[in-house]
Amino acid sequence: MERTTCLVAGGGPAGIVFALLAARAGVDVTVLEKHADFLRDFRGDTVHPTTLDLLDELGLGEEFAKLPQRRVSAVQLPLRGSFATVATFERLPGRHKIHCHGPAVGSAGPAHPRC
Ligand SMILES: Cc1cc2nc3c(=O)[nH]c(=O)nc-3n(C[C@H](O)[C@H](O)[C@H](O)COP(=O)(O)OP(=O)(O)OC[C@H]3O[C@@H](n4cnc5c(N)ncnc54)[C@H](O)[C@@H]3O)c2cc1C
Repeated sequence: MERTTCLVAGGGPAGIVFALLAARAGVDVTVLEKHADFLRDFRGDTVHPTTLDLLDELGLGEEFAKLPQRRVSAVQLPLRGSFATVATFERLPGRHKIHCHGPAVGSAGPAHPRC
């Protein structure tokens, strides 16, 4: 391709969302991403409640919810043979009261002892 109306350098979250919005607005947009695949360690481990709200606004929330993921509504730590809740997301503003972890968004490893 030799010509485009809008060239986005970098297909990270910012570049991809901008490109999506531009394309939806009818702009001829091209994204140049230096990586050819997703086979690397991503920084993002969790998708936060405000990000879930944003995905809803973009019309992508339902599709995102279909991806393999673990939904965390509270954090508990082992205490004297039981579990103590040290944080809960129930009182957060917005529609989503959870953090999402999963293969699609990062590691679903054992960092969260009981969620
Ligand atoms: C250690 C760490 C942990 C984090 N954990 C989380 C988390 O759990 N949840 C969360 O929501 N956020 C997390 N973040 C923040 C999140 O990673 C950033 O907010 C987000 O990645 C920023 O997106 P971006 O598109 O601005 O930049 P980037 O994600 O850096 O994307 C830039 C893109 O541009 C490409 N690029 C760079 N140079 C060129 C070039 N010359 N030509 C073509 N392409 C190029 C890169 O390959 C990359 O794909 C974390 C950040 C760090 C540092």
